[in-house]
Amino acid sequence: MSASVALRLPSIDGLLRHPACLPLAERYGREALLASLRQLLDELRSSVVNGQLSAAEISPDVLAGRVGERLVQQQRSQVRRVFNLTGTVLHTNLGRALLPEKAIEAVQMAARYPLNLEFDLASGKRGDRDDLIEGLIRELTGAEAVTVVNNNAAAVLLTLNSLGARKEGIISRGELIEIGGAFRIPDIMARAGVRLHEVGTTNRTHARDYEAAISPRSGLIMRVHASNYSIEGFTARVATAELAELAHRHGLPLLEDLGSGSLLDLTRWGLPAEPTVRQALLDGADIVTFSGDKLLGGPQAGLIVGSKALIAKIKKNPLKRALRVDKLTLAALEAVLGLYRDPDRLAERLPSLRLLTRAQADIFAQASRLQPAMAGALGEVWRVAAVQSLGMIGSGSQPVARLPSAALCLRPQVSRRLRGRHLLNLEAALRALPIPVLGRIDDDALWLDLRQLDDEPAWLGQLSLLQVAQ
Ligand SMILES: *Cc1c(COP(=O)(O)O)cnc(C)c1O
Repeated sequence: MSASVALRLPSIDGLLRHPACLPLAERYGREALLASLRQLLDELRSSVVNGQLSAAEISPDVLAGRVGERLVQQQRSQVRRVFNLTGTVLHTNLGRALLPEKAIEAVQMAARYPLNLEFDLASGKRGDRDDLIEGLIRELTGAEAVTVVNNNAAAVLLTLNSLGARKEGIISRGELIEIGGAFRIPDIMARAGVRLHEVGTTNRTHARDYEAAISPRSGLIMRVHASNYSIEGFTARVATAELAELAHRHGLPLLEDLGSGSLLDLTRWGLPAEPTVRQALLDGADIVTFSGDKLLGGPQAGLIVGSKALIAKIKKNPLKRALRVDKLTLAALEAVLGLYRDPDRLAERLPSLRLLTRAQADIFAQASRLQPAMAGALGEVWRVAAVQSLGMIGSGSQPVARLPSAALCLRPQVSRRLRGRHLLNLEAALRALPIPVLGRIDDDALWLDLRQLDDEPAWLGQLSLLQVAQ
């Protein structure tokens, strides 16, 4: 090694004037070019000092080329479209529900123009943003009143804090759940200022358990949808109607956190039964909370529905202002709710319901159709088969129910020892495509569940770019 001649990085000023950098300044702006050049030189400095780079590697031409690539990368949005072929339809990490066209149009309108967000056009006076969807929600759920916040976690926090602060919240031990992303009922209660009073046991809670817990310190009774787990076997749970009767006899409100909270009975589309918001209210729950982007199929939001007096109390809480929804969400939510007025056509119009109800035969036919292209793109090492598979709804709806689906099953034809690495390499290559493709690894194969593959041309069009490391 000839460590005698110390290399020096070109100066920023010199690089800025370099002919290869001039078009970059023109295209991306001088400030952006400068920032990227600084980052690049900072990263290279220690390697240069340690003698790990040759003169050629830090020539102005090479550096200009590298900063050009960096600018392309940096200009690319970090928010990227992907293909969700995981088999989980309402995937929290992949953005949950897809909006219907009507909602997308409403979002565009709300983004582009001023609107009557908090302005009553009839009276010309100040309005309330909840009023924009109150009529629809009342019609669809039978609730007296409604208020909307940022997500269901916020709905639960706000409701608990508004109705139970400094008092006890009574809840079954079987419902003290944790949902992904550190949403845990005991923690939320504590943050809401409600003292947790747990009753019963994990598998069995009786009416007498609730009754024994009621005292002058009680503020509310809460019931939570188990969402992502199920209790089976020797179990007992008090029906909502019975619990509501008990709560009301003692002058306490009953809150029901439904999680997904379907507006309609899903069994009409052959899907597993989920409790509906209307039924929970009919059974006597005073307040029901649920998500906008789970089974409802709309934007991220938390809906709080129930009695007029309690909703009024919730709306007066200063936290409401901190947790409120924005205009884009409200515009989308109104459009989605509007579709529910015509349930007969909902499965055609609401993407999440259309995807959830796609027939297995249809998905299997698609897998068979795409099998040759996938096999061709992968070559000899992989066996590609169209197979039946099992997906799930996701987002805590029916955690144990499986949706009969179909997939491309990609199996490496290599020794057992090498299989794991091949699968990870393929997974990485699929993620590196212009529209990343996300599947799941299971049973020594990579599965691409096609239930959600709508845009076949885009998917096929990028297969030729697939490059799997060996
Ligand atoms: C999903 C869920 C929540 C949280 O809802 P987000 O809309 O994700 O904030 C709260 N409670 C239950 C029972 C849930 O299933």
